Amino acid sequence: MYNKIAMFDTKPYDETSFKKANAAYNFDITYLEPRLTKETALLAKNHPVLCLFVHDGVDAELANILADQKVELLALRSNGYNHIDLAATKGRMKIVRVPRYSPYAVAEYTVSLLLCLNRKIHLAYWRTRENNFSLVGLQGFDMHGKTVGVVGSGQIGTIVIRLLSAFGMRVLVYDRSKNEALAAETKCIFTDFDTLCKESDIITLHCPLLPETQYMINKDSIHKMKDGVILINTSRGGLIQTHDLIDALKAKKVGGAGLDVYEEEDRFFFKDLSFSFIDDDTLARLMTFPNVLVSAHQAFFTQEAMQDIAKTTLENIKCFFENKPLQNEVT
Ligand code: NAD
Repeated sequence: MYNKIAMFDTKPYDETSFKKANAAYNFDITYLEPRLTKETALLAKNHPVLCLFVHDGVDAELANILADQKVELLALRSNGYNHIDLAATKGRMKIVRVPRYSPYAVAEYTVSLLLCLNRKIHLAYWRTRENNFSLVGLQGFDMHGKTVGVVGSGQIGTIVIRLLSAFGMRVLVYDRSKNEALAAETKCIFTDFDTLCKESDIITLHCPLLPETQYMINKDSIHKMKDGVILINTSRGGLIQTHDLIDALKAKKVGGAGLDVYEEEDRFFFKDLSFSFIDDDTLARLMTFPNVLVSAHQAFFTQEAMQDIAKTTLENIKCFFENKPLQNEVT
């Protein structure tokens, strides 16, 4: 039984990267397409280790089922762990995660999303395909000289700060702690959240979803922002109160939003629903705005990040099987 891993929500690209990394480990991995739910948990019977992704949520009820099935380790192939009820799993099974994988993947995607939205490349792409070569409505603004507010200066935020500094932007940063070395290196300015909201032309989110960060972008914080502010979220959907964002888009208070994450994304993202319809009126409304760009949680998705994720996940599992200290344990 030891050596056996059940991997949920497996996509072809997951299987490719894990098969490649597993050549060095030789674990017995069962690749399962369904997400982990209380109905699919049985597929992992006799597997002490489950490998989960961001939409394999474990609540108290599912934690009971997994404990009954004698699951001992949840190996998350993600950085975030807000989808696991830690109180319910505590003392019953261990959780490990991938605290670091190519942070360039998410940081570079963040800047791509921002550039695309500002310069309206997503609109130009469709226009020229229809032989419409008009520029009307496609005007953007120079990034140079503008102020960007970066919330969270961890691994990803740091690279975003470096990249946007290189555009000649004034960079304001809000984090729980000041990174003096980063401030000296990039000339970014650490400030409070209110000042960041008031002075930024663009705000990009790179902090985790926690009780204190949930809905940090809401009608009150949006009210303090500059008219026409651009919001970018490649972090977690729950950082933004989406109804307030929609109101602000309708009022033209917010000039654009680049969203790689959405609070209710697990019902839609990573699925091909092109033969169906969106029964979530909030998401459907969001996607009607020409100045809103939604992507399906793809910021992490580079070859390098996928290789890092597979290698770290299998190394975490190896430490568990060999009873070694779990450096990437979520406690
Ligand atoms: P990190 O832990 O290195 O950095 C997070 C930063 O947020 C830290 O500096 C921390 O001090 C700061 N922070 C924590 N609480 C805060 C608060 N209340 N107010 C302000 N700042 C606060 O994490 P990271 O690797 O940079 O990742 C950031 C986030 O990006 C993750 O939490 C995850 O949600 C998201 N992410 C998204 C994708 C994607 O594909 N879209 C991929 C990876 C990570």
